[in-house]
Amino acid sequence: MISTQSTDFFWSVRRRRYWRTCRRKYFLYYYAARGGFDLASPQPVREFYAAKRLIPLAEFVRRIANFAMRESFYAAQDDEAPAETLELFPLAARRAEWEFSRMLANDNRVTLLELVAGEESAGNVHHRMLALLDALCGEITRNAWSALSNIPKCDRRPIESPLELAIAELKCFLVPVLAVRRAGEIWLLENTASTDAGNEIAVLGKFAAAKLWGAPPQTVRSFVLAGDGATFTEIGADADVSEVLRGIRRDVEEMSQLIHENGTVDEDDFPADASHCATCVFRFFCRQN
Ligand code: SF4
Repeated sequence: MISTQSTDFFWSVRRRRYWRTCRRKYFLYYYAARGGFDLASPQPVREFYAAKRLIPLAEFVRRIANFAMRESFYAAQDDEAPAETLELFPLAARRAEWEFSRMLANDNRVTLLELVAGEESAGNVHHRMLALLDALCGEITRNAWSALSNIPKCDRRPIESPLELAIAELKCFLVPVLAVRRAGEIWLLENTASTDAGNEIAVLGKFAAAKLWGAPPQTVRSFVLAGDGATFTEIGADADVSEVLRGIRRDVEEMSQLIHENGTVDEDDFPADASHCATCVFRFFCRQN
């Protein structure tokens, strides 16, 4: 049995995704890895913690590109964006190199799954990382970024990422990249290429914009940048706010039912679904796949 604390509980897109794909993954990520940063913790806990920090290369590259967009977007001091902010790759590459060297020293917040998989050399992973980053940043720069970088500074809305949000008693998380004001509306760009939780992200974005800038819900729109970095896609344009909130609360109710009254959870209550193992960061440690 693993102990939990109800105050730790929050809803996020990732949490729902894990809950709905492999319950064992959900258990490993949110419960079994707890405390694994402590070298005195049991070996399995440390393994799960190490696995929790793994990230596939493609996802890492996307995060770095988003980091570069965010840094450049908010760094410009004048309404005219400085020329260097139009080039994302140099900034992205510097950040990627810095994180990569820390990964090799086992001193980074995340580590590439490909580095521990042992199927290719670190040099090859590094080469692919820069090539993917160059391609993605190039695509973003040629397409979406040119529109974004022309937005005047006075219309750029700084926003924390990740962003914690309270809906009544429930804590939720969003991961916005940028927020801007456009023609009386607030537009949020979310840090994902996936539209599978578009309604939830858009509805939570409305709550966030209301709290941060007093924006009426009908004036708040959310977008994701397609995986190729070329186009924005609006998400949740027709989302029914009440229905989305009911869905989130249903998730939370189901998840909470597996927390016993004394605050513990039982590993056996979280069955494995092996159809998702191929891309799972826990596959080297899971012992169920
Ligand atoms: S390796 Fe497979 S069974 Fe294990 S947690 Fe991941 S998806 Fe679930």
